[in-house]
Amino acid sequence: MKILVAVKRVIDYNVQIRVKEDGSGVITDNVKMSTNPPDDNAIEEAVKIKEAGKATEVVAISVGEEKAQETVRKALAVGADRGILVKADGVIEPLAVSKILQKVVEKEKPDLVFMGKQAIDDDCNQTGQMLAALLNWPQATFASKIEVKDKSLEVTREIDEGLETIEVNVPAIVTCDLRLNEPRYASLPNIMKAKKKPIEQITASDLGVDTKPRIEQIKVEEPPKRKAGIKVATVEELVQKLKNEAKVI
Ligand code: AMP
Repeated sequence: MKILVAVKRVIDYNVQIRVKEDGSGVITDNVKMSTNPPDDNAIEEAVKIKEAGKATEVVAISVGEEKAQETVRKALAVGADRGILVKADGVIEPLAVSKILQKVVEKEKPDLVFMGKQAIDDDCNQTGQMLAALLNWPQATFASKIEVKDKSLEVTREIDEGLETIEVNVPAIVTCDLRLNEPRYASLPNIMKAKKKPIEQITASDLGVDTKPRIEQIKVEEPPKRKAGIKVATVEELVQKLKNEAKVI
């Protein structure tokens, strides 16, 4: 069984995001970039399945500028066997990414595609679902547990009402939740070994995919600043303020 894992390069989740003065986007110059967090869970799960002897190859793929190679390299350092970088400049919307992934799936013929449930930069939560539609494959989204069966997967999904368990036939798309596993850190020897693993480079136009944005971003604004809190001296004062000022009781 072969698993293709999509990894996106995004602003690191610890970075305090700053909006450009002209409201045209967020500042990315000299900002720390990392793998989209749920994509680390997707890679970890694929590598664990391979270690359990249930997969033969894990291929990491990223779509983006040249620097997205670092994201693929990190996936190789934690256990992926080889990488693919599909070079495309500017904003690549989920529809374009899913069309690119569709072309790569047709060529690579994986049995499973693992992805993150959502990218923390655009919060779209669309790419996996659109890829499933384009390929006409079953999808299991928000996976918090995956069990590989003979020709199917049993996937537990976190939903508002609790945990839902579904079975999907392989080939399938799975989008991974943060609670799926604990991603490992890359050890120094594995980082060194990853430098020798192959990364194939192609462009979106080689695949015949038009990446022109379909959505016009009108404005990006910072959220309104929160007002400072106050301290009260007694419980009575708190109750009085909740009743008469906040009017919540
Ligand atoms: P989104 O639909 O943008 O919230 O992204 C959902 C998931 O799709 C991410 O967690 C990634 O696994 C995958 N994905 C989105 N954009 C890219 C990209 N440019 N390169 C690789 N994977 C991506």
